[in-house]
Amino acid sequence: MALFALVDGNNFYVSCERVFRPSLKSWPVVVLSNNDGCCIARSNEAKALHIKMGAPWFEVKHLNDSDGLVGLSANFTLYGDMSERMMSIAAGLGPGQEIYSIDESFIDLAGVRGDLTARSRQVRERILQWTGIPTGIGMGSTKTLAKLANHIAKTAERKPGSYPAEFGQVCNLAALPASDQDTVFAATKVGEVWGVGRRIAEQLEEGGILTVLDLMRMDPATVRRRWSVVLERTVRELQGLSCIALDDQPTPKKEIACTRSFGRPVTDLGPLIEAVSEFATRAAEKLRGQGSVASEVLVFAHTSPHRPGPRFSQSTVVPLRRPTADTACLVQAAVLGLRSIYQPGFQLIKAGVLLLDLVPGSLYQGELDLEPETTGERVKLMATIDALNAKYGKGMVPLASQRDRRSHPAVGHAPGALDAGLHDRVGGHAHCQGGLTGQGALHRRLFSAGTAARKF
Ligand SMILES: [Mg+2]
Repeated sequence: MALFALVDGNNFYVSCERVFRPSLKSWPVVVLSNNDGCCIARSNEAKALHIKMGAPWFEVKHLNDSDGLVGLSANFTLYGDMSERMMSIAAGLGPGQEIYSIDESFIDLAGVRGDLTARSRQVRERILQWTGIPTGIGMGSTKTLAKLANHIAKTAERKPGSYPAEFGQVCNLAALPASDQDTVFAATKVGEVWGVGRRIAEQLEEGGILTVLDLMRMDPATVRRRWSVVLERTVRELQGLSCIALDDQPTPKKEIACTRSFGRPVTDLGPLIEAVSEFATRAAEKLRGQGSVASEVLVFAHTSPHRPGPRFSQSTVVPLRRPTADTACLVQAAVLGLRSIYQPGFQLIKAGVLLLDLVPGSLYQGELDLEPETTGERVKLMATIDALNAKYGKGMVPLASQRDRRSHPAVGHAPGALDAGLHDRVGGHAHCQGGLTGQGALHRRLFSAGTAARKF
């Protein structure tokens, strides 16, 4: 029989922040989106203050004085790191894993023997102990039921009395007798079902379908006629027929974006080039991470639509001569595009780089030309830079056009840029040039490593 678990981090972003700032425990905490706009994660204490998901900070910040509400700026790099750790431990629960979102993964438990509830509690404990992140685990014979069980596990813990206490933290619907299942489903609103959005929930409620039990008892054929095949599938899943398979092969992204709002408006070309180089570098890393190459680079910049003053919004697409995942080529294309759209005198608030027309690197079409073929060397170079940045921290080996974020006076500046000769070896093809800069420590590390630096 099919059996799935859903492992989900509680109030994930807030939990990540609390790992590094334990003093925030038991305080109402929210994590705020870009530019500290809206609440995108809330601690249980913040939920108890009736702060809604997505609430603008200016509407809730008075709670700072009255209730000690803490608002934190989001740190997505940290959340990504914590997510990876959590996912790798969760993977120990069963043989297959689908990473569904930054804090949720489905585990395929088919064929796993023994007391799965006890096993899940152990994995939950391990995640808490090793990463500091509290999770809820739900199990069911379909993904929709596992998701529902997860909702029950978390609600039973957060709101005592809503469900039997033994469902708190870990809830295994598959181990429950049918009559008990019905009781639980009758106590759960139809809007809590995975795939039932607010609009559908309203329609269902108007038709008298108020609880999960009501929905589960509907005739799938009728549901398809009156609503959709999608809702029909949901009904069948609630009835225990697994229709949504575990998707453990993440589909490669069709485009990769790196965009950011600036902390304060930017008008000069210099800082814009630094920013766009940084975006292209990050995007190039993601591109290599999924094993693809890009054929076009889009770059854009615009002023704020909300501020007074002259408006500017431009973008351009720079085609690449060959599909590539080479940071130097992608950065150069992005900078070229930026220079072509840039006009002085505008208070730019946001810019970004999108890599377009992605194809798998393995499908790369070689071409017959008279230029020396050095693609293999460049691929190795990029892999080395990725490995160094992964080991010593993001941005440790930046390109020359990126800002050296470590050059803050308090940190100490590198005595000189590491110009390791990342020159264009693709036969005078001007699209591939870039120098490496690096910090003193890395400079020494590389040269003490002997051949490593000279290989560049
Ligand atoms: Mg969550």
